Amino acid sequence: MRIVLVGPPGCGKGTQATRLAARFGIVHLSVGDLLRSEAAAGSDLGRRAAQIMASGELVDDDLIIELMDPKITAAAQGRGYLLDGYPRSEPQAAALLAMDTAPEVAIALEVPEPVLVDRILHRAEVEGRADDTAEVIGNRVAVYRRSTEPLLAMFADRGLLRIVDADVDPAAVTVAIIEQLENMTSR
Ligand code: AMP
Repeated sequence: MRIVLVGPPGCGKGTQATRLAARFGIVHLSVGDLLRSEAAAGSDLGRRAAQIMASGELVDDDLIIELMDPKITAAAQGRGYLLDGYPRSEPQAAALLAMDTAPEVAIALEVPEPVLVDRILHRAEVEGRADDTAEVIGNRVAVYRRSTEPLLAMFADRGLLRIVDADVDPAAVTVAIIEQLENMTSR
């Protein structure tokens, strides 16, 4: 199964991605986690990414596409993948959709904006992520609206888009996503 999970910062993407990947036995590819481990390892990509991540802007498309492309190809040779945080821009989406192993479905998680900010501020207390300050959060939500939200139309045009209400408890969101995926495979 080849799945993309899309949604604004704080929509619960990471939590759902972990659960769904375990449930379907597919590879969970989180761009944010990959970049954070590159940063911790001090690689060239990691150093560049750390600076950009601290502002909430997007890391350069060519670097991200180069990072993700081989991982997506490898995962697709197995049981499939769940992409968490990719694609986030039009060039990334175009690169992904042009792959032989392009996604079969894009699940968009919808949450009202005030709920997002509360959730991220709560995560900041629990996880202490460097980019979870009020200012950076505001920018990350703005970057999502500007660069990532327009991708929903690209997915819809290709018949890949499924929208799920993510303003309910996480277990109910997981059930709703699984229902969407099962509807898709039973058609
Ligand atoms: P996340 O953990 O998904 O919230 O991502 C944290 C940060 O990593 C983002 O704010 C961006 O700076 C960077 N990032 C994650 N995914 C991408 C992507 N697909 N393209 C560019 N930058 C990304």
